[in-house]
Amino acid sequence: MAWFKKTRKPMAAPAKEKPSRVPEGLWVKCPDCAQILYHKDLTTNLNVCPKCAHHFRVNATERLQMLFDGAWTEYDKDLVSTDPLVFTDTKPYKARLEATIEATGLKDAVIVASGEIDGLPALVASMEYEFIGGSMGVVVGEKITRGIERAIDDRLPVVIVCCSGGARMMEGALSLMQMAKICGALARLDRVRLPYIAVLTDPTTGGVTASFAMLGDLNIAEPKALIGFAGPRVIEQTIRQTLPEGFQRSEFLLEKGMIDLVLDRREMKPVIANALRFMGARARAAKPAPVEVSAAAGPAVNPNS
Ligand SMILES: [Zn+2]
Repeated sequence: MAWFKKTRKPMAAPAKEKPSRVPEGLWVKCPDCAQILYHKDLTTNLNVCPKCAHHFRVNATERLQMLFDGAWTEYDKDLVSTDPLVFTDTKPYKARLEATIEATGLKDAVIVASGEIDGLPALVASMEYEFIGGSMGVVVGEKITRGIERAIDDRLPVVIVCCSGGARMMEGALSLMQMAKICGALARLDRVRLPYIAVLTDPTTGGVTASFAMLGDLNIAEPKALIGFAGPRVIEQTIRQTLPEGFQRSEFLLEKGMIDLVLDRREMKPVIANALRFMGARARAAKPAPVEVSAAAGPAVNPNS
């Protein structure tokens, strides 16, 4: 019965893929308009799609490069969380911290630095989403608070670029206390009449929205950024209603009066500088030129007297 038997041919090995001559990461596909973009073009355009103005996420360092004129001074760079609760979820918090520090090169989810924005000295805190979702733990709270206190001492305006999933649950109630601590520092900044601008980027949620992200003298958001407290699913289940379209996006929040301005990233720096000037920030006074004292310019002396 030879025709019932199937003679199995060995499966042909897949033809070896030709090595691509295009290096990895040279082209990027825009998730919004599906255009293929040259990576370098995207970078020179501040990571905004040149075709449809989709704002790609950028990291904390790139934010500082965007805002500051040149070099900046970073503060409290080596502050690290001590894992006070000895917390374990899918893996121990300590191991998660070590892996994230290794991957991002940062010690926690914020960089606090001072430098000049269009000639105006300012203090900027920039949050890093890649570090455990930009979550606010004890270190983030402490670094931002120290930054604000430094700004009060040096009479500097403060800009905080928010990008966070909220409080860091691995630090429990201690992370929630950071909300009050930062708000307290901001109140002191307000009392000495120094401006504070909050920049809300995609995403700004949870405890960050519920505290310092909404306290700016000016709250600026990037287009289509997700900004909210709880996620839409939780809200829908609680209020038992379907949410309107565009809910928790910048444009919707602007319409409802939650934020002051929706601003393209490419205009961010000049607008912030203008706003700071309007609120009284001044460029550092140039050092007075040393007065030259020369014999010729000196008081005339009557040789006869
Ligand atoms: Zn696009």
